[in-house]
Amino acid sequence: METNKAGYESQAKDIASGFDEKGASLILTAYDLACKAHENQKRMSGEPYITHSLEVAKILKEMKMDAVTIAAGFLHDVIEDTPYTVDDIKKIAGENTAFLVEGVSHVTAKVFKTRGQIFSESLKKMFFAMAKDIRVIIIKLADRLHNMRTIRFLDEEKQKVISNETLNVYAPLAHRLGMEKVKSELEDLSFAVLNQQSYREIAGKIAEKKEEREKRIEALKEILGNELKKLNIPVEIIGRSKHFYSIYQKMVRENKRFENIYDLIALRVITDTVNNCYTILGIIHNYWKPLPGRFKDYIAMPKSNMYQSLHTTVLDEAGRPVEIQIRTAEMDDIAEDGIAAHWNYKEERAFDKKTDSAFAWVRQLLEWHGSMRESEEFIKELKVDLFDEEVFVFTPKGEVKELVKGATVLDFAYSVHSDLGDKCIGAKVNGKWVTLKYELQNGDRIDVLKGAAQHPTVDWLKIARTAKAKNRVRHWLRTNQNIRENIDKGTNLLYERLAKQGHKPEDIPEDAWGGLIEQYSVKEKDDIFAGIGYGEFSDAKVANHIARFLKERKEFVPGYERAKHVTRGEIIVQDELGDISYKFAKCCNPVPGDEITGIYTKKGISVHRKNCGMLAISNITAPIVNVSWNEKADNFYMCRLKVTARNREHLVNDILTTIAKNNALISSFNSGILYENHLQADLFINVKGQKHLSELISSVRKIKDVLTVERVD
Ligand code: MN
Repeated sequence: METNKAGYESQAKDIASGFDEKGASLILTAYDLACKAHENQKRMSGEPYITHSLEVAKILKEMKMDAVTIAAGFLHDVIEDTPYTVDDIKKIAGENTAFLVEGVSHVTAKVFKTRGQIFSESLKKMFFAMAKDIRVIIIKLADRLHNMRTIRFLDEEKQKVISNETLNVYAPLAHRLGMEKVKSELEDLSFAVLNQQSYREIAGKIAEKKEEREKRIEALKEILGNELKKLNIPVEIIGRSKHFYSIYQKMVRENKRFENIYDLIALRVITDTVNNCYTILGIIHNYWKPLPGRFKDYIAMPKSNMYQSLHTTVLDEAGRPVEIQIRTAEMDDIAEDGIAAHWNYKEERAFDKKTDSAFAWVRQLLEWHGSMRESEEFIKELKVDLFDEEVFVFTPKGEVKELVKGATVLDFAYSVHSDLGDKCIGAKVNGKWVTLKYELQNGDRIDVLKGAAQHPTVDWLKIARTAKAKNRVRHWLRTNQNIRENIDKGTNLLYERLAKQGHKPEDIPEDAWGGLIEQYSVKEKDDIFAGIGYGEFSDAKVANHIARFLKERKEFVPGYERAKHVTRGEIIVQDELGDISYKFAKCCNPVPGDEITGIYTKKGISVHRKNCGMLAISNITAPIVNVSWNEKADNFYMCRLKVTARNREHLVNDILTTIAKNNALISSFNSGILYENHLQADLFINVKGQKHLSELISSVRKIKDVLTVERVD
């Protein structure tokens, strides 16, 4: 026992090493307190509980977290499982540590004790809403990682429940925070529990081919290393196999056997500067043939979880695909540790602003770093960004309620109780008076105020955003107001409009209403009539829905007469769809002269180029609508161009003036150096049609030093 104790203590000292005096002493104080608090407690493995605290702290140190977080890691189970209180921690390990420990306990108690009751998506969101500091979540992830590493000591049933939760809640959380290393390990550990057979199969096969794979990696590394040595670019090349769960997902997704998955190997090239990343990309594409469509520039366009890297897939000598990632050392740290790495990169990086500032991607990078200089600010932004569809607020009792973004006090009142909604006159939000219309903000504490004489009015339908509130208001209006009048009014308006389109009321089958009732989130047909009557719904829209329904039905009936053409602004819709909107698909940006096709979506017709790649790859089940260009329309249409050129002074200016001279409008212009001073520009421009576009392309091609000009999807 004594030797163990000494062993633990030296582990704690290891963890504290590398911190300044204050940090180290905080970590050791926390360790001492954890020892005392968990004295005599044991893990399921039979080991003393302090081993868990030590491992969690170690994981946090590996993530390069700050001393306070590591101290809180030591103490994360103290409030929950021992007689010690928050105040004890505050006194001994300071306010900040206590704040994080309390946060972890709070989240554990409030969110994770409700396991099984809440759908995992909500669980994730609540987690964020409740964690006042992102470090709370990181501690929770470290805790889960160690629990997963030691999961074999639990009974089978528990293993499954915990692994499920890990796969559905914790791994996505880690991904959201950009912590890929943690995510991969959590996934593989859960996968081993949940699908033992597949796990063993993949692990076995990977092990079997280990030697062959390592040889291949070595060969690739040598070739690439030699090429890069010539240019004196500092690089580290890492070859790795993908993690098991991602291979498994790929097998399932693409319905392939292990033997048919070729890109098991990924190379990662780590260098010093952003500029060198692009240079290396150029060299790789020069040496091996890149697979079309697989190049992704996450340096210019970082993922929302901060991930930055260049991705490309090339074919090696034997024609086998190899995925290659190129990034700087800093980007690599962020890719592996995500938000945790952020603590190490608070100071501004040394970019050569003078030479690089001409390029959008460098500017973007600088701005990005500038804006996250203050961690606290950054955390706030991150919390807001993660869930932009929902808003989380608190009841006076401290319960969390999730509502749609834009929800008002009225929605909140109805979400608590329908009577509270009916009588709602306003609320006290964070102690301040607000009206029914007040739009809820994350973290608001809301105390609804009732008025005895209050009741819903038609106007409330405009204030309410949630279906629940709207339904209650409608219900009230229907039972308490002269609703019959509105139903009659709405019925007349709708049938008049349908009559103009040649439909009689008796032609409309009952099931035509089903979709509408669902779409408008109402209870029955009369709600739709009433809604039209008091102006909540548009009679034109409802009529169109019914016309469309009747049309779709007719298509199955022989002898159905083909519809007339309908001109809608820029396009001619060759099916009778009524007054329906359309938009041009962003994936292929059609311009007049292109062959086009329409896809019928909920939001209207989406117009694609006939040869659009998206149409080919996605399994489109939505009905196809025949469309063609309306030649009388005189508009500008957006399309995308890629230009490569040998870079020189005034080149960008020459391109821009040529475009302007051709009377095309520029929406955006991004450029970067690809390799050996080759510039690549990505432009969004507006042209009148294909003829205009091809004239423009040929003028740009004529510019000195321009190598290629291509229209891209
Ligand atoms: Mn724990």
